[in-house]
Amino acid sequence: MVNLDVMTISFEWTDEHKIIREAVRDFARTEVAPKIPEMDINQEYDRKILEKMGELGFLGVSIPQKYGGGGMDYISTAIVSEELEYVDTALRVAISVHNGLNSMGIYQWGTEEQKMKYLKPQAEGKKLAAYGLTEPNAGSDVAAMESTAKKDGDNYILNGSKIWISLAATADNILVFAKTDSSKGHRGISAFLIESGYKGVSSGSHKNKLGVRAGNTGFLNFDDVVIPQENLLGEEGEGFKIAMSCLDNGRFTVAAGSVGLAKASRDAAVKYAQERTSFNKKISEHQLVQRLIAHMNQGIEAAELLVLKAGWLKNIGRRNSRETAMAKWYATNVASQAADDAIQVHGAYGFSAEYPVERFWRNARGARIYEGTDQIQEIIQGQYAFGFRQDKPLRKDLPPYNPDE
Ligand SMILES: Cc1cc2nc3c(=O)[nH]c(=O)nc-3n(C[C@H](O)[C@H](O)[C@H](O)COP(=O)(O)OP(=O)(O)OC[C@H]3O[C@@H](n4cnc5c(N)ncnc54)[C@H](O)[C@@H]3O)c2cc1C
Repeated sequence: MVNLDVMTISFEWTDEHKIIREAVRDFARTEVAPKIPEMDINQEYDRKILEKMGELGFLGVSIPQKYGGGGMDYISTAIVSEELEYVDTALRVAISVHNGLNSMGIYQWGTEEQKMKYLKPQAEGKKLAAYGLTEPNAGSDVAAMESTAKKDGDNYILNGSKIWISLAATADNILVFAKTDSSKGHRGISAFLIESGYKGVSSGSHKNKLGVRAGNTGFLNFDDVVIPQENLLGEEGEGFKIAMSCLDNGRFTVAAGSVGLAKASRDAAVKYAQERTSFNKKISEHQLVQRLIAHMNQGIEAAELLVLKAGWLKNIGRRNSRETAMAKWYATNVASQAADDAIQVHGAYGFSAEYPVERFWRNARGARIYEGTDQIQEIIQGQYAFGFRQDKPLRKDLPPYNPDE
């Protein structure tokens, strides 16, 4: 149903949006893009690139200035995500976990002390942050997690392990989830802010991944890690809610990034189609090739609108779990199909690392698994449709965009 009291539509980018897009585009396409093919082939991760992103303000773009961020709206985070993933998914994954899953979670749920101690250096790009939810025996089924955090005087003692954690082997700070009461299912999960330097934290990297090979993905082990009480994020038992609200922020960046990946696939296909000839004409003149490009554009424009709608809801402080999940589900599939069709346009050359589209295809695949698989997004939409799931207010919603904060 259309809500008339908030129906203001503008497709104009603000000056701020244009400036941030230009800055990210220049950095990603000029400085980073030439390094990516080799990094991808050799599975090399370079922390210096993320440090530079921090210096340029991309790691705290929508965090208020008083907490070290850029003080821009949530659409700006989408622009950063889109422009980075136009060049490589690994760059956008860093935004998803550092900004979306960790920093915005602290902004939403943290105490003033936690924001000053952890959020500020993260938003300033001085510290890198990760999000540790997935475990060897618990992915989609978060409540099946086995990590525990037992109260011990003024501390918690953390034991367990996490896998498939982006930036695991390089992050300074980690938002980690563990059970404080194993008898209560998802209501027994709590969230903690920990540092990778804490005694008992160890990490390593996954090798030979299908995609995101220029980024770090790895595991974390916790062996009697002592966490001070003040590092509990939110309240005991609120971990599941916190994890899901962080996913509302992370999925938004995945959706926006997928728009960038789809555009990169489309642009590569258009360029190639204007160079290659068959049957004495440019392949761009074959209507079946044009159809592949037309479908890419159809998906890109619809995905972009879903991202903008979710970003607008965030800007005005409305719950957007359904809309963000929809944007993530749709945009990641658009990117996956666009990359697949871009390979088709390239013929056998698309099957080779000589052109970027095979990397786009491998990278696009992961986004249909992480931050909630296709099936989980589909279940979310089904549950909303039947009223099994509703947007109830959280104890703490993401604050609306406030340029004066
Ligand atoms: C590159 C990459 C980066 C990642 N980064 C992070 C990170 O930074 N932090 C983090 O915590 N995790 C991260 N993950 C993990 C990711 O979030 C999980 O892989 C994802 O949630 C799915 O969990 P799973 O792999 O255990 O699959 P499972 O949950 O085992 O699912 C397997 C299959 O069963 C289906 N399935 C499961 N339950 C249902 C159901 N109820 N109905 C229908 N189908 C179902 C799934 O859709 C899937 O097809 C990352 C993963 C990748 C690949």
